[in-house]
Amino acid sequence: MKKVIIIGGGLAGLSAAAHLSKKNFKVILLEASPKLGGRAYSFFDEKPQTEIDNGQHILMGCYSDTLNFLKIIDAYKFLNIQKILEINYLAKDKNHFRLKAPNFIYPLNLLFALFSFKELNLKEKISLLKLFIKIYFTDSEKLYGMTVQEWLKKEKQSDKAIRIFWEIISIGALNTSTEKASAKIFCDILKEIFWRDKFSSQIIIPALPLSKTFCEPASDFIKSNDGEIRLSEKCIEFVVDKNRIEKVITDKNVYEDFDFVVSAVPFYALEKIIDTSFLDKQPEFHYSSILNIHLRIKENFLQEDFYAFYDSELHWLFNKRTHWNIVISNADKFMQMNNEEIFNLVFTELKKFIAISDDDILLYKIIKEKRATFIPDDFTLKHRPSTETKVKNLFIAGDWVDTKLPATIESAVRSGRIAAEKIVFNN
Ligand SMILES: Cc1cc2nc3c(=O)[nH]c(=O)nc-3n(C[C@H](O)[C@H](O)[C@H](O)COP(=O)(O)OP(=O)(O)OC[C@H]3O[C@@H](n4cnc5c(N)ncnc54)[C@H](O)[C@@H]3O)c2cc1C
Repeated sequence: MKKVIIIGGGLAGLSAAAHLSKKNFKVILLEASPKLGGRAYSFFDEKPQTEIDNGQHILMGCYSDTLNFLKIIDAYKFLNIQKILEINYLAKDKNHFRLKAPNFIYPLNLLFALFSFKELNLKEKISLLKLFIKIYFTDSEKLYGMTVQEWLKKEKQSDKAIRIFWEIISIGALNTSTEKASAKIFCDILKEIFWRDKFSSQIIIPALPLSKTFCEPASDFIKSNDGEIRLSEKCIEFVVDKNRIEKVITDKNVYEDFDFVVSAVPFYALEKIIDTSFLDKQPEFHYSSILNIHLRIKENFLQEDFYAFYDSELHWLFNKRTHWNIVISNADKFMQMNNEEIFNLVFTELKKFIAISDDDILLYKIIKEKRATFIPDDFTLKHRPSTETKVKNLFIAGDWVDTKLPATIESAVRSGRIAAEKIVFNN
């Protein structure tokens, strides 16, 4: 049985481990922290008195690698899958509205949904539909050099259409302002979401906390295939000789008996383990933050599973039934504020959207993720390294590797699957 050491127990590492276990490789996964999941995990917290996610994660029907991974580890059953694309918006002064695709022939159902969007006037709807259709035929490579904002303006999208539709997707998927994000990757994800099939645009929410959805089933699967997971073991160095890793040195062990190594740590962590000049491209990542505010409410009067805020610094509200989870993407400006300042700001804003008073909030918990995702600008996209490296027995995974996707669960899981396939091929 060939042996693979995997460094990093985030979703990229777990995906590589699951795929390799399935192909009868002996996997040893080393994770520096005492828990699996990396940037996607959950824990029990006293404040909302329930298990909460470090940050709400949503998946989409187009996340084919993630859905396949969840099937492999027998966790697909833990997903809440929308039957049809539907977004409920919270608007100021409680004028709420929704975007809902009817359940008839795809893609006519999507075009119909956009055309019946009451919030936009006829001219805005026609421009929106024109661009929506044009995306199908667009060669996204030609969009290099333009930001999302520049592209949308060039395509005559009104400010309102940008705020109500395009920005919700752009900030949600790219976690970056439309002024910074590359139009190229935005066009790519729009094709994935809307132009693949009917299922692709459906929003999927884990029904269980993240660690129960991803980490525990993955861990069970790996262990049941003779794999090992070693937590609280940090990789310190790869000793390379003649373009092969000869030793993996951790803070607890020195490993010499292995056939392949998968690095599934963020780029900034890999730089501490090895001189990264062996990668085929030299990346430079800048990161963007995400803020999650968990509120325990006296009486939960919201009906839907989630809402998008229209025209607000708040982006999403997820109704977890035991509590509400408010998400602010692209949240760098909040990172320097203290929790009380953040809460006051968020609560003042929330009151403009829903009828809620100070007495309704029992407890709150704020989680800041400073380096949540890398910023997908043109330079970064062109400098993402590939899975294979000059070091013959080392393969790279992680949401930052060149999967052509933004930093998402799907990118992480796909990168892990690709690393596993390369190992199977090179075996
Ligand atoms: C708050 C938040 C919300 C998000 N929302 C969404 C969403 O809605 N949808 C979506 O698709 N994506 C979302 N993402 C992005 C998604 O979580 C990430 O893209 C994905 O989890 C990255 O996985 P990864 O395995 O590549 O990296 P990581 O999760 O960073 O995993 C790397 C692992 O390596 C470990 N490690 C580091 N150094 C070492 C070392 N030297 N030795 C051993 N182990 C080491 C780390 O401890 C970590 O566990 C969100 C991210 C955040 C933070």
